Amino acid sequence: MKEIIVIGAGIGGITTGIRLLQNGYRVTILEKQSTVGGKINQIKNKGDKFDLTASILMTPQNYTEIFNYVNKDYSKYIDLVKLDTMYKVFYQDNTNYEFYSDISKTIKFLESIDCNLGVDYLKYISNSYSKYVLSNENFLNKPMENLKEILTFESVKTAIKLNPIPSSYKYTSRYIKDNKIRDFLLFQCMYIGIDPYENSNLYTLIPAISQLYGLWYIKGGMYSYIKSLEKLFCEMGGKIYINKEVNEILIDKGIVKGVSTSDRKYSSDIVVCNADFPYAIKKLIKEDFNKDKYKDKKIEKLRLSCSTLIIYLGLNKKYKNLKVNNIYIGENFKENIQAPFKGNLPNKPSFYMYCPSKIDHSVCGDSKEILNIMIRVPNLEHENIEWNERLVKSFRDKVIQSITKIKGMEDIEENIIYEKYLTPKDIETNFNAYKGCAFGIAHNISQIGYLRPHIKSKSVKNLYFIGSSTHPGNGASVIIKGTKLIADEIIKNS
Ligand SMILES: Cc1cc2nc3c(=O)[nH]c(=O)nc-3n(C[C@H](O)[C@H](O)[C@H](O)COP(=O)(O)OP(=O)(O)OC[C@H]3O[C@@H](n4cnc5c(N)ncnc54)[C@H](O)[C@@H]3O)c2cc1C
Repeated sequence: MKEIIVIGAGIGGITTGIRLLQNGYRVTILEKQSTVGGKINQIKNKGDKFDLTASILMTPQNYTEIFNYVNKDYSKYIDLVKLDTMYKVFYQDNTNYEFYSDISKTIKFLESIDCNLGVDYLKYISNSYSKYVLSNENFLNKPMENLKEILTFESVKTAIKLNPIPSSYKYTSRYIKDNKIRDFLLFQCMYIGIDPYENSNLYTLIPAISQLYGLWYIKGGMYSYIKSLEKLFCEMGGKIYINKEVNEILIDKGIVKGVSTSDRKYSSDIVVCNADFPYAIKKLIKEDFNKDKYKDKKIEKLRLSCSTLIIYLGLNKKYKNLKVNNIYIGENFKENIQAPFKGNLPNKPSFYMYCPSKIDHSVCGDSKEILNIMIRVPNLEHENIEWNERLVKSFRDKVIQSITKIKGMEDIEENIIYEKYLTPKDIETNFNAYKGCAFGIAHNISQIGYLRPHIKSKSVKNLYFIGSSTHPGNGASVIIKGTKLIADEIIKNS
């Protein structure tokens, strides 16, 4: 039986492990943190349970597929609920809009703003959805390893059909003339950490699949999904060791031999690295000739996603006007959305607020409501920003100020009974995320598909990579898809 070591117990590491166990491999995961899950993690305080980062659950079929893969009934592991309201959107002029998982309800609402808006929205969603279908079939579900297989007449035709060059802004503006609706759609295109005014319109597929498949919630929060994966992995005989930081991937004459930690060596036939690709190549592979083309100079030239600051609040009051997923669209939307990509903190930030306690009392202990506020900020490549207490406090004050302008939330400051933050520095330190990027290397056209770091090393036999910075890309459901590709490659090659 072949022995596999997985570096990191992120969603990518555990899901790959489950697929490999199902195919008869022996799998051990080594995780540097004291908990599993990587960035999908949890903060606990007096019974309050805050999801650390991810909270928006799109394409539920990708989350349940892993259970089908091992012939298990997902409903015995997770309790999936479809959200009626996808998003509540608050605007700085004190209006708010609600968008629904049921498309007919959303259309009815749009018609109430302008009789043509429903039709324009449907055209936008339909064309963006076709981008999703094409990307899925031709890129996301393929390993993108072999250029000869990729560069076919069909794939060139697909690339032309996708027309990925115009920015999300240009593409969206063609269909949607209403500024408020357009800003809401662009905000979603930014979820993978790229500037929607500069980058490919491919990511308009995010609002499209959200609308068509709905947004969902797992009882107990996103971390309960990780716990169910951990349970499944262990039931299948996998081993996870926490507080084990790998410091080297051991390679001999171009063949992987295992890994080492500060206290011992672990031999294996195959290594799957779930630690962030640029970090892993720089720090865990010692010899340049084992790094493919990703020598230090190339790594430093990679374009990176932005980071986030998250404010976690325990509140001593229920806030009726919030839904599970909320967006605040601030003043000068374009300038402030672009700020983090230019190395600046937004002056009038727009942000996302996650309030799971709206439908799930199990996440509340002492607090009556728990709230995560996520603001896009520059990654650590921009050394002009020092994430010290003073900066966090002043930025946090600005954000809370904006929230107090929302009708019904004027008294939020006096109802805060617990408060904690996650900064780009924490994302880097805790998870070895390169330059504190929240979403791995950027998903611009020159870094996706065949051009993104591959799942299989070209220079080291039996070494594989999975995670935010590798193909097929970032986001929980995309990474789960990627673990199918990596398992298929391992099975094919061993
Ligand atoms: C703020 C934020 C919000 C997000 N929101 C969403 C969302 O709403 N929906 C969504 O789908 N996605 C969201 N994402 C993205 C999603 O969280 C990530 O795509 C996903 O968690 C990445 O998983 P991963 O397995 O690739 O990496 P990670 O979660 O980073 O896992 C890698 C693991 O490797 C470990 N590790 C690193 N180095 C070593 C080492 N040397 N030795 C041992 N272990 C090591 C790390 O500790 C970590 O546990 C969000 C991300 C962030 C940061």
